[in-house]
Amino acid sequence: MSSFTTDIETKLIHASTNGKVERKTGAVNVPIYLSSTFHQDSFEEFGPYDYSRSGNPTRQALEDTIAELESGARGLAFSSGMAAISTAFMLLSAGDHVLVSEDVYGGTFRFVTQVLTKLNIDHTFVNMTDLQAITDAVQPNTKVIYIETPSNPCLNITDIEGVVRIAKENNCLTFLDNTFMTPLYQRPIENGVDLVLHSATKFLSGHSDIIAGLAVAKDEELGEKLAFLQNAFGSILGVQDCFTLIQGIKTLSPRLKQSSDAALQIAYYLHDHELIEKVYYPGLRYHPGHDIHNKQASGSGAVLSFRLPNKETAKAFVDNVKIPVFAVSLGGVESILSYPTTMSHAAMPSKERELRGITDGLLRLSVGLEHVNDLISDFDQALKIASQKVNIVSSAN
Ligand SMILES: *Cc1c(COP(=O)(O)O)cnc(C)c1O
Repeated sequence: MSSFTTDIETKLIHASTNGKVERKTGAVNVPIYLSSTFHQDSFEEFGPYDYSRSGNPTRQALEDTIAELESGARGLAFSSGMAAISTAFMLLSAGDHVLVSEDVYGGTFRFVTQVLTKLNIDHTFVNMTDLQAITDAVQPNTKVIYIETPSNPCLNITDIEGVVRIAKENNCLTFLDNTFMTPLYQRPIENGVDLVLHSATKFLSGHSDIIAGLAVAKDEELGEKLAFLQNAFGSILGVQDCFTLIQGIKTLSPRLKQSSDAALQIAYYLHDHELIEKVYYPGLRYHPGHDIHNKQASGSGAVLSFRLPNKETAKAFVDNVKIPVFAVSLGGVESILSYPTTMSHAAMPSKERELRGITDGLLRLSVGLEHVNDLISDFDQALKIASQKVNIVSSAN
């Protein structure tokens, strides 16, 4: 299949079966191999699988799928995005140093600041939108530059090829969390990144049902090192969740495209609303890094953030909006509204949060598959109520 399939939309459908139906039965889906162990034919010769922590055919179908979608050499499926990310960091050794996006995902921030430090692996947070700042922060023991682009929740854009260039000049690896874009819109390995990471809990599975993580290594050697760590830690994805994720990946393109189209309309609507102080969305022409993003990604994604004047107005909006669920997470078929201050970024001290623009009025929206007109009408009525809150607050003062 891969020899004549070029478009990712076709790969999304057929990569898991490698373009073929299952040989024994003609099943069009990858079977769920619920087997912890595998019989070996002879004393001397072992088959391709021995024990499911080390390898399982259903998991392998998923791992091969994500490797093909990301143009990498080796894919690995983990029990969560954080399992993939933390295992990737275990490629480092005591005494090493990492550069990390300053607005990195809260769980990654927690791992870097509270776990890596115990292992004597040091870090510096840098503004990854500033290539000079990255160059200046590199130390002799820097081994990895860790990027998230667009970042969470302010959608800051990092120039992937610019960072790869700095990494190569300094003998570092580059890791990139591609959760927001997915390989449909952004394939960082094609820009020279060494390791791509995913919370597959989000857009890849797409239905707010499973927790899953994926990693893709650019080359076999790095893939082999990571596979060793995956087996050593044992934080593999269970086969039933592997199956669910394979099915989710098949519908990624129509889901993400519809949600992204709606996100752009909502971003313009919010931008024009007088109560909204700021909208963060890479698809907006004036968004910082818009041109860099368009150079390295083919879509703007379905996540945007917007700032209300304060906590009271943000709360009034959340209390009165009817369609989105109010929850952590993103990337589901339902729109998900979240409050980064106490949700995704609760692990970050308030001073660090404010520095990153995560103010008390900031809300993040992951646009689902509801009709965009319904979402905008819903926001409109909730913002009217939130506006009255501002007036009450100011007249009380
Ligand atoms: C959710 C998320 C993670 C963590 O993934 P889990 O599957 O929740 O462990 C990492 N990075 C980003 C950008 C995320 O949104």
